[in-house]
Amino acid sequence: MKKIMILSGAGLSAESGIRTFRDHDGLWENHDVMKVCSTQGWIADRQYVTRFYNDRRCDLEFKEPNHAHTMLAQLEHDYRGRVIHLTQNIDNLMEKAGAKDVTHLHGTLTDLRCEACTETFNVGYAPQEGNEYCPNCGNKRVRHNVVMFGEAAPEYSQLQEAIRQCTLFIAIGTSGAVIDIIPIAKEFKHSILIDPKRQKTASKFDPHSYIDEYFEHFIQKKAGEAMDDMMAIIKEHMDYRL
Ligand SMILES: [Zn+2]
Repeated sequence: MKKIMILSGAGLSAESGIRTFRDHDGLWENHDVMKVCSTQGWIADRQYVTRFYNDRRCDLEFKEPNHAHTMLAQLEHDYRGRVIHLTQNIDNLMEKAGAKDVTHLHGTLTDLRCEACTETFNVGYAPQEGNEYCPNCGNKRVRHNVVMFGEAAPEYSQLQEAIRQCTLFIAIGTSGAVIDIIPIAKEFKHSILIDPKRQKTASKFDPHSYIDEYFEHFIQKKAGEAMDDMMAIIKEHMDYRL
């Protein structure tokens, strides 16, 4: 059965005004990324990190999904069970757009996680006050649910599973800096890269100089503006091509 693997990143949410540390060399909303997004930073100052994610949650409340989120949610609906969407984004804009089944590889802003039993629970946009307890085991040591540098990302195992199952790979708004998309693209005969900029490959030993050269199709547009082109290729892939 033909199936679609989508891997999305910051570029998907950029048009909704979501900024990440990738925008400004190691800074995220003027905070040092290693202070707010590493296990060392978390051990050094839990309160500082908690306040940082409280602010991000508060920010997110008023952000709206853009055209790309809406179209991807529609795609999931139209090809039910045949789309595997893995996102590196921690925002909930895909869900706000109506998507039901998106895997957040780097965690979610609107959940907290128990440090004892690892259960996650939704807090919406509410600030974490420090007096929360886990609804599953009653433990009081709860934390934000964002994967930090220095710890494992448990959902990464789903990448391999998606590669195994799918026949079309679509990378949207991800520079490949965190997850290398070149080896994934190499696994697919059919692939689409959506990025407004051509990105150079990281290694000079790569046979190509640009990431887009590893993809069957390159749509050099912002995510929201690339949807019509993307849908035309998907339709052809799913309906006609063997
Ligand atoms: Zn617990």
